[in-house]
Amino acid sequence: MKFLIESYGCQLNMAESAALEMMLLGRGLEKTENPAEADAVIINTCSVRKSAENRIWGRLGFFHAEKKKHSLLLIVTGCMAERMKEELKEEAPFIDAVIGTNEKAEIPDFIIGSPLEKMESYRFLSSYYREGEFSSYVPIMNGCNNFCSYCIVPYVRGREVSRPVDEIIKEIAFLDSKGVREITLLGQNVNSYSAEYEGRHVDFPSLLEIITPYLDNIIFVRFESPHPKDFSDHLISVIASNERVAKHIHLPMQAGSTRILQLMNRKTTREGFLALVQKMKQEIPGLTLSTDVMTGFPTETEKEYEETLSMMEEMGCTEAFMYYFNPREGTRAAAMEGQLDESVKVGRLERLIEEQIARQSRIKKAMLPFTARAIVTGVSRDDSNRYLARGEHNDYFSFASEREHSAGDVVIIDADELKGNTFRGNEHV
Ligand code: SF4
Repeated sequence: MKFLIESYGCQLNMAESAALEMMLLGRGLEKTENPAEADAVIINTCSVRKSAENRIWGRLGFFHAEKKKHSLLLIVTGCMAERMKEELKEEAPFIDAVIGTNEKAEIPDFIIGSPLEKMESYRFLSSYYREGEFSSYVPIMNGCNNFCSYCIVPYVRGREVSRPVDEIIKEIAFLDSKGVREITLLGQNVNSYSAEYEGRHVDFPSLLEIITPYLDNIIFVRFESPHPKDFSDHLISVIASNERVAKHIHLPMQAGSTRILQLMNRKTTREGFLALVQKMKQEIPGLTLSTDVMTGFPTETEKEYEETLSMMEEMGCTEAFMYYFNPREGTRAAAMEGQLDESVKVGRLERLIEEQIARQSRIKKAMLPFTARAIVTGVSRDDSNRYLARGEHNDYFSFASEREHSAGDVVIIDADELKGNTFRGNEHV
């Protein structure tokens, strides 16, 4: 029996798909990328943006046509399945099962014939490792209690649930033994992690301290996405002092005006966010930052948009995920008065992107020349004498070396040039 998994959306979905793949392989099924060969198809959906949902409707049409050609078990899971369960069943009755986020772990049993059990809460899978990878996701919490007014996540992933510390340690020790080089601890609000372990309370910075002794091959520990309101002094000091924790932090900003941040229910202000950024830069040597930011939130004025531009300049990110506000049905922001025209939202986004591209190039050029540790990701497509690598700051390298390398090798690179977004240099000898 062959299976095919299509995944959309966030890293947690990717991690869950990797885990499902390993579970299905473990039960003797074969993986295929060819829909014509698949006996079972799992579509792991995303609901964060309307465009993602539209694309999935298109894929459902495609698999409906496949079902007419050969027998196929079609399963739709993930956030869109959670949000639109009834609509999917009505509009696409050819789907064999619509499975919510809490029951995702049941899919392998369902495929091999067991009835689906309704789960009251989210269950973590035992491992999210995909054979042969050197970079792995480690989900440590699921769900969100924050209810940012534009976000669908709390409705589709439910309330926060933290994975037990001993399960996380077990998985990390396993990943390390498999030669994994970097891990990303995942959660919708990763730094609100909270669990009990050996009779004491463990928060996110304590978890980072607990897992470090289990790391040998793993050289970079990353995490995504933290919320500014939960970014404690203890967390800053652990990042600063723990050499395994990558000195590149993704810190979602969303907007630069206090009024808009409050309408978004971000539980921070412009001044509070900037004070946090300043403290992080002061206390974490060599820190680089990335962020999420949007334009055109309902009622955003030109002046408030300018505040976003200036806050981006003050934050000084080497990367940014930039988008315009897209109302999600069922969220508070979708029902707010003062929705802006798409042309305004897009126009504001274009300038934001243009400025950020120039800024990140300027920041990266100012770093040169420098020497950095990086993980080899492969051979350059343009030049077979060069290798590609990714560094601690999520930066990309193309480097020449006298030695043979394979993906996952750790190298030291002397970088002396920036081409596009990629640093170029030579292996340090
Ligand atoms: S913190 Fe806000 S944006 Fe992030 S998942 Fe929770 S509700 Fe959504």
